[in-house]
Amino acid sequence: MLYKGTHTLPNLYDSHVHWYYTGQVASTWNLKKYTDPDQILKAHIKLEYFRGDWLTAFGWDENNWNSEFKIHRYFLDQKFLNIPVHFSRTDGHSSWVNTKALNLLGFFDTRSDHFKKYAKDIVLDDAGIPTGYLKESAHMYALFSLPEVNDGLQKSFLLRGAEIFNQAGFTHIRDMTSNPKQWKLNLELLSESDFLLHTEHWFVCEEFANLQQTIQQIQDCQKNENNWMKIRGVKVFADGSLGSQTACLSKHYEGSTQSGQIIWSEVDVKNMMREVWKNKIEIAFHAIGDQTSHQIIQWAREVYSEGVQGRIHLEHAQILRPETIQNMKSLHVRCHLQPCHWWSDQKWLKKRLGVLFDYVFPWEALRKAQIPFSFGSDSPIESSSFFSNLKALDDSAIKGIKKLGGNPEKFHLYPAQDSVEGWTQIVDDTVHSIYLGSKKRFFT
Ligand SMILES: [Zn+2]
Repeated sequence: MLYKGTHTLPNLYDSHVHWYYTGQVASTWNLKKYTDPDQILKAHIKLEYFRGDWLTAFGWDENNWNSEFKIHRYFLDQKFLNIPVHFSRTDGHSSWVNTKALNLLGFFDTRSDHFKKYAKDIVLDDAGIPTGYLKESAHMYALFSLPEVNDGLQKSFLLRGAEIFNQAGFTHIRDMTSNPKQWKLNLELLSESDFLLHTEHWFVCEEFANLQQTIQQIQDCQKNENNWMKIRGVKVFADGSLGSQTACLSKHYEGSTQSGQIIWSEVDVKNMMREVWKNKIEIAFHAIGDQTSHQIIQWAREVYSEGVQGRIHLEHAQILRPETIQNMKSLHVRCHLQPCHWWSDQKWLKKRLGVLFDYVFPWEALRKAQIPFSFGSDSPIESSSFFSNLKALDDSAIKGIKKLGGNPEKFHLYPAQDSVEGWTQIVDDTVHSIYLGSKKRFFT
């Protein structure tokens, strides 16, 4: 048991979540539990799995299946020939679609300009035909092409997500995939329901051409910030994931000729930093590979030296070389780590990273260098859980990750002083109750 008896924590904080998707995934078809892909074909399909006429699901992971199995649209076509199917991978960085969906997305004709724009992220089979496995930019395109969800349903997903965070004991979250609509719905939820969550919103910027618009949207939201809601800044995806081998490393993935790549050019990253910081907004980079973090920090230092400075956040920062951590010291940087990724990643980390394994999950190195960092879950990629993170810290320390010194609790507390006050009461490792402002909830 981690906490025997009663223990109270102030402003318990999950520092990296996808709020809307947490609620949505909990309300739709979850493929995580399947140990054999055939179970997908045998499953009973419920009406709530559909978005418009698209059948959707989340959570597949080919690493959990027979290694002979290849992700291919033909497999899905066996059962779903006439409805479009879109399944998101467990890491949220790839899609698996059937032939009907591939056609609707315009990815079937390999000679089209539309195909060519996304070609690097569309997996082909030996015959040069798209398999229906879509990565990164092609995945994001597919995700955003799904039929719109109406406001009522969106709000129900947000409520469901909030419920999940509350049950896990969290009074404070930092939402990394928000948008103006979600900000508006959050305001409504605060005024109309017994809603108990302090939220920090980050708006995703997909393309440089959209940056000015994103900054404008953020500035509009700043006008109605309150002590339950904050708008923080712009979130940018700088690389992919280790699972899909799209996170950018300083060397090849073991047994591969790939090392991943940084999604943005140096010019674009620096211009984004300049624009965002000039407007007194913060910027967060999804950066998993060691080379991505290193480059981003280097570019930030160069922009700082021009006299343009601001806050920078590294999301995940799963592998950091010692020199990168050194270089962070002159910047206003905070890293956001998710110990719980240890549970899914440990089985292949060493095999895939080789010598870079020494720099994975760098919480102790960051602590020693006094670089601020926070813990979170990346929900719904992993479950939002304070206890799971504490246990992952213990388990990983036994299996070769440098042990975090000091009390890990403090990295799970809201790091600012600008919010309504929250308390979480834990009794014998169970969340007993949470308080935020004058609102209370009891769970046992
Ligand atoms: Zn995330």
